[in-house]
Amino acid sequence: MLNIVLFGPPGAGKGTQSSKLVEKFNLVHLSTGDIFRFNIKNETELGRLAKSYIDAGNLVPDEVTINMLEKEVTQYSDAKGFIFDGFPRTVPQAEALDMFLKSKNTSIQLMLALVVEEEELIKRLLLRGKDSGRADDTDESIIRNRIQVYNEQTAVAAKFYEAQGKYHAINGVGSVDEIFERLSSIIVEKQQ
Ligand code: ADP
Repeated sequence: MLNIVLFGPPGAGKGTQSSKLVEKFNLVHLSTGDIFRFNIKNETELGRLAKSYIDAGNLVPDEVTINMLEKEVTQYSDAKGFIFDGFPRTVPQAEALDMFLKSKNTSIQLMLALVVEEEELIKRLLLRGKDSGRADDTDESIIRNRIQVYNEQTAVAAKFYEAQGKYHAINGVGSVDEIFERLSSIIVEKQQ
């Protein structure tokens, strides 16, 4: 299996690049943000639980997120691998994912981290908010809170993979195709 964590702050381009990568490498895309939004739209219990956290730009509690993610992975029993987009976002989530994949006799091979500076992120998110219908993308103070949450709680999760020699930082500024090329070449290298 080829399991990749696509990492980076809100607005770094994880969703855009994930869609292209899953096609090229025949992987399953698991975006925790997309799964939460699907549940909110369909008014499930999980959606109701997650909504207040997401609207405020805070993280959904680890236990809820980890359970959801494990259930999703289990559904794709014949997947060739996964792109995890938006997960793990905390150190406990990284530890849980590690243990969970180990129980399935597999592991994360790569963490690809998109690097984009803060003012560029805010510009991108406000632009996306104009037509995405995402409430968390329209209010600048909520966007700034999400970036702060990323800096305080999420960025440290990269150290977990750095310690295992799996971390690669990628310049997330450029055209979509240029960034895709940067990511793809690291994955191809890893496969050889
Ligand atoms: P972005 O990366 O643009 O912030 P996402 O679509 O990945 O957006 O996530 C939207 C929101 O969903 C986050 O701000 C957070 O509230 C919640 N969320 C997504 N993934 C996680 C996670 N792994 N742990 C906790 N909360 C999460």
